[in-house]
Amino acid sequence: MAGEPQADCLFCKIVAKEVPATVVRETATTLAFRDINPQAPTHVLVIPKSHHPDAGSLAAAEPQAAADVLREAGLVAVDEKIADSGYRIVFNTGSGAGQTVFHAHAHVLGGRGLNWPPG
Ligand code: AMP
Ligand code: ZN
Repeated sequence: MAGEPQADCLFCKIVAKEVPATVVRETATTLAFRDINPQAPTHVLVIPKSHHPDAGSLAAAEPQAAADVLREAGLVAVDEKIADSGYRIVFNTGSGAGQTVFHAHAHVLGGRGLNWPPG
């Protein structure tokens, strides 16, 4: 069923605390933790606790959870003190766009200059 934990999903395992992560925020529906391979001084991932393969699928199936992810991404930026200097919220979608973990996640990136357009 959509949203159910997937046995082979790394981020479902992080939600279940079967794989460790450096958690910076948690709500009933979301988890935010530091990316293991940071691409900027601040690089935090915000995920829904429910499993959906990408951001569009999440928003279609559980719009409130998608809104929760966006709200938490903004609050991560405030906590990390990058809200004023500017930051980026990225949802890589599909392997051609660099998605490697097929559990929806927002990258929150900041603390350095960010080029536009991104590569
Ligand atoms: P994406 O390539 O958009 O699917 O993003 C997946 C992100 O997950 C990458 O930036 C990885 O560095 C990150 N990642 C992979 N494994 C872990 C882990 N165990 N803990 C935290 N971040 C991870
Ligand atoms: Zn998952």
